[in-house]
Amino acid sequence: MKKPAIIWLNVMIFLVTFLFAVIAVPYRAITHGFDATEITFAVMCFIYCGMSITAGYHRLWSHKAYQAHWSLRLIFALGGAFALQNSILHWSSDHRVHHKHVDNNDKDPYSAKKGFWFSHIGWMCRKYQDDRYDDYANVRDLKKDAIVMWQHKYYIPLLLIMNFGIPIAFGLWHGDIINSLLLVGVFRLVMSHHTTFFINSLAHIWGTQAYTDKNTARDNGFLALFTFGEGYHNYHHIFENDYRNGIRWWHFDPTKWLIKSCEWLGLTTKLRTIPEDKIEKSRLAMTLKQTKAKLVSCPNAEQSIAYLQQEYDLLIKKMNAYYQVRKALITAKREKVVADVEKSELMAQYQDLKQHLIAQRKSWYLLTEKLT
Ligand SMILES: [Zn+2]
Ligand SMILES: [Zn+2]
Repeated sequence: MKKPAIIWLNVMIFLVTFLFAVIAVPYRAITHGFDATEITFAVMCFIYCGMSITAGYHRLWSHKAYQAHWSLRLIFALGGAFALQNSILHWSSDHRVHHKHVDNNDKDPYSAKKGFWFSHIGWMCRKYQDDRYDDYANVRDLKKDAIVMWQHKYYIPLLLIMNFGIPIAFGLWHGDIINSLLLVGVFRLVMSHHTTFFINSLAHIWGTQAYTDKNTARDNGFLALFTFGEGYHNYHHIFENDYRNGIRWWHFDPTKWLIKSCEWLGLTTKLRTIPEDKIEKSRLAMTLKQTKAKLVSCPNAEQSIAYLQQEYDLLIKKMNAYYQVRKALITAKREKVVADVEKSELMAQYQDLKQHLIAQRKSWYLLTEKLT
C-alpha cells in the first residue's frame, strides 16, 4: 500500500530544531557559554510549555477533569502555542480519538501498536488521517470556549509571537539574542516536544499495567519525572476524567499539584476524582488476573488458584461492607440528622470494618507475594 504524502512543514520543523538542539546548542555552550539567568529562564519556559499541555490541553480541555477561570485558560492557551503542538481544538480532538480507539491502528491517530517511532513522531510526519483533519465533531463542547476558538483562529500568529517574541525580548533584555534564540527558543522547544511525545510512545511501551491490560498504556514513575506527572498512563487510560494521573501523595505529579493549588486560589473548580473503592477494585482485579496467570504452570495450580480466588472474594466482600458504612457515616455527618448515639454506633461499626479490611488486605498482599 502506498504511504500517505509527507507533511514537509512538520518534518522540517522537527528536523531543523532537532539539529540545532544537538549541534548548534552544544557548540555555542562550548565556544560561548550560557549563563545561569539564561538557563533558568529556559527551564521556566520549558515548564510553562509542558504544564500548558498537561494541565491545559490534556486534563482540562481533552478530559474536562476540572474547570478553570478564563485567566488560567488564557495562560494555558498561550503556553500551548509556545509548545507548538497545534491548537487546543485540534490536539483535544486527536486525543479524544486516541482514548476512544486506543491501539486501533486504523483509528487511533498515534497507535502504539504501530511501533515506537510512529507513536512518538511518525504520525505527525505524513497525512495519515487527512480525511478527518478538520472534523471537530468530538470537541463540540470546546467550541463554546471563546479562548479555545480564539487560539484556534489565531494559532499561527500566536505561535510566532510566543516562539520568536519571547526569546527575542528576553535576549534584548539580557543582552544576548543568539544565546536566547538557541536556548529559550530552540532547545526548550525540542525538549518540550519530545517529553510530550514520550507519553504517546514510551508510556505505551515501558512500565506496569497495574489497573488494566485492555490497552498498551503503562504506569511508569520514572517517565512521570520529566512529563509533569503523565507517566502514570495506565491509570489515566482507565480513569481518564480524574484530574490526577499519579493518585498517591508520593507520586510525582506536578500537574496535579498545580491544579490543586489553583483550586486554593479560586482559579480551578470541580476537580474530578474517581471513588477510592473503584480504583482499588480495578487494581485488585489485575493482581488476581496476573497472579492466576503465573500460577497456571505451577504444581498444585488448581488448589492455589481456588484459594487465591477465595481470599479475593473475601477481600471484596469486606471492602464493600467498609465503603458502605463509610458512605453512611459521611451522609450522617453531612445531614446532622442522626442522633449522636446512632452516629457513635455507626462510628464503632466503621472502625471495626476498617480493621477487618486492613487485615484482609495485608493477608492478600502477603499471599500474592508468596504465590508469585
Ligand atoms: Zn495514551
Ligand atoms: Zn488522556
